[in-house]
Amino acid sequence: DYKDIATPVRTRMLLEKHGFSFKKSLGQNFLIDTNVINNIISASGITEQSGVIEIGPGMGSLTEQLAKRAKKVVAFEIDQRLIPVLEDTMSPYDNVTVINEDILKADVQQAIETHLHDCEEVLVVANLPYYITTPILMGLLEKHLPIKSYVVMMQKEVGERLSAKPSTKSYGSLSIAVQYYTTVEKVMIVPKGVFMPPPNVDSLVVKLTSLDQPAVQVEDEALFFKLTRGAFVQRRKTILNNYMSLIKDSKMHKESIINWLQSAGIEPTRRGESLTLQEFAELSNKFKENVE
Ligand code: SAM
Repeated sequence: DYKDIATPVRTRMLLEKHGFSFKKSLGQNFLIDTNVINNIISASGITEQSGVIEIGPGMGSLTEQLAKRAKKVVAFEIDQRLIPVLEDTMSPYDNVTVINEDILKADVQQAIETHLHDCEEVLVVANLPYYITTPILMGLLEKHLPIKSYVVMMQKEVGERLSAKPSTKSYGSLSIAVQYYTTVEKVMIVPKGVFMPPPNVDSLVVKLTSLDQPAVQVEDEALFFKLTRGAFVQRRKTILNNYMSLIKDSKMHKESIINWLQSAGIEPTRRGESLTLQEFAELSNKFKENVE
């Protein structure tokens, strides 16, 4: 019987056996600590009825623990050099499907329908490739997929942004977008030393639980997201100035922007970083009646 993959001994053995070398450009920092994996697993609330989507299985350190506990695991791995490694390490498990695709291009809905249709719930559990954390999460959230929760490890600073509250340094359009779809909890801080090779930054495991309804009622989601992003383009400027640049191509004059802000109860001199999700929702819902 082998040791767990997430140990220095077994990881080195596999690297040597398969002649594998890490690609920094793909965010390849593999976990070599079983405690961290156990904490991720228990935060995920995985059961024998769960279907799990993993992004970036690497050599399978997390995948094998998911396979032992879940009904099925579907893992998206972009690096084709890892496919034979995973065939080797996942050979004891008959409930793992590895898909050699870029998660940003993959049809995740289709994968859920094909592989996880007989599972009671779908969970995402992953040690993400840090260079694309935001597009991965936003891509999945915006598609309104039937995913119950996400337990994901990312760069600490990005994790802080996901959970940030208004009027803090980390609060921005990413906080708003994620909190629109989910409730966010920090699970644990993870030091650099538990990875091979160690990354340059500390990490944070975050749990996102999908809301049944978005956190605030918004009539036009595209407009809501445009306005939340536009409010932070120049963080130190007022919301009025940011929106004057955002809307400068349209026929909307300064006065009508001020009227619109005030109709939503927002003082034009405030900064975007002080606005709550509710206030951004109010602003986007009042936009059309003030412009058209
Ligand atoms: N899960 C493994 C672990 O914890 O030991 C590896 C995690 S490593 C931080 C990130 C993994 O994501 C790597 O295996 C990398 O090849 C893969 N990856 C990078 N970009 C990807 C993409 N666009 N789509 C799918 N996988 C990707």
